[in-house]
Amino acid sequence: MSMPRRISVLGATGSVGAATLDLIERAPEGVYDVVALTARTNVLELARLAIKHRARFVAIADEACEPALREALAGHDIEIASGEGGVIEAAQRPADWIMAAIVGAAGLRPTLAALRQGRALAFANKECLVCAGALFMQEAAAHRTRLLPVDSEHNAIFQVFNSEDRGAIDAITLTASGGPFRTWDKIRMQSAGRADALAHPTWDMGAKISIDSATMMNKGLEVIEACWLFDLPEDQVRVVVHPQSIVHGMVHYADGSVLAQMGSPDMRTPIAHTLAWPERMAAPVERLDLTQAGRLDFEPPDLERFPALRLAREAVQAGGIAPTVLNAANEVAVAAFLDEQIGFLDITACVSEALDRAAGDEDMPSQLGAFDDVFAIDRRARVLARGLIGAPAGQNG
Ligand code: NDP
Repeated sequence: MSMPRRISVLGATGSVGAATLDLIERAPEGVYDVVALTARTNVLELARLAIKHRARFVAIADEACEPALREALAGHDIEIASGEGGVIEAAQRPADWIMAAIVGAAGLRPTLAALRQGRALAFANKECLVCAGALFMQEAAAHRTRLLPVDSEHNAIFQVFNSEDRGAIDAITLTASGGPFRTWDKIRMQSAGRADALAHPTWDMGAKISIDSATMMNKGLEVIEACWLFDLPEDQVRVVVHPQSIVHGMVHYADGSVLAQMGSPDMRTPIAHTLAWPERMAAPVERLDLTQAGRLDFEPPDLERFPALRLAREAVQAGGIAPTVLNAANEVAVAAFLDEQIGFLDITACVSEALDRAAGDEDMPSQLGAFDDVFAIDRRARVLARGLIGAPAGQNG
């Protein structure tokens, strides 16, 4: 019998983390050995998962949560750590496959630590590539890490992208559901509340990515992610709105062939693909029946109502500090919207303004040559964006 595969999940208590551990739980005994699990504040869920999966190491990012975690795991032989250092230590524990599913740029240091193990990194935490694309890819190459895309669109492309024949690839297409406001006019979007924006029509996801889907910034971040993962210029990464979320991604070949990957909208399919890669495994997802689906619709994205997609494209074209600023400002603005400090349309307006101000800001580093620059740009962009949140809604909107 072969050895169990050692796996770790960074962001175990989140939506992607839960889908990953659901697959692990269903596997026969002895197939997987859970090494490390991490969370930020969700002590009880982290402890429950650690006990259930007999994890050997757990880390909670918020140090104030460590005593509660120790209490919840009393009597269990599980090592406990806290703070960012603890999460990094979890990522460094030797594992054969690591799921990077922390949300936001906060995941960059732990994800880098996981990547530096030089094994398989199932990559969901797209903000890492948005804020540090070139450096991140250089690091992956230097450590010969196998980056396995988890985002459903990128996983779809990965499945149909013939890297042996790159010259024959004209472009790729990422599909977008269009989010909850696909059919809303701008006046209605102006008054959209938290609950409206969180009500994603096809995917069940964490709060930050749900809001990003509603603004379509998520698709913008995905365009940047795709440029890095597949080494393509921005104008070869197309986006099409497809409300049914059945076709996830397509590769366009020189002979006119378009290869697409389809499936029910369930993250367990792309996660299972990365878990079993280069083989395949069974996943407990609803089987796609196109006769039930009935029709597949496609439409171009409306950049007037969803300017975030345009901003992201401009940022990746501009290069330098722009994508890092875009990502940081967006994280700040999304958090402010979730706290009901700003309106829905203010999110993208804030990102746009932060990008403008960053360009002429004396305290903003002008170069991005090392990871320390990324962290400095991220910090400064957050200061600029927070300054804008205090501005009256009219100024942001
Ligand atoms: P969730 O918000 O559901 O989960 C985030 C996870 O990260 C939780 O475990 C959370 O812990 C942990 N976390 C949050 N902040 C920190 C921090 N500062 N330090 C350490 N850990 C932290 O997010 P999702 O699962 O939805 O998304 C995770 C990533 O995957 C994102 O980058 C997203 O864009 C990407 N993704 C998600 C998809 C989805 O279907 N959800 C699809 C494709 C990509 P706690 O629970 O304690 O807060």
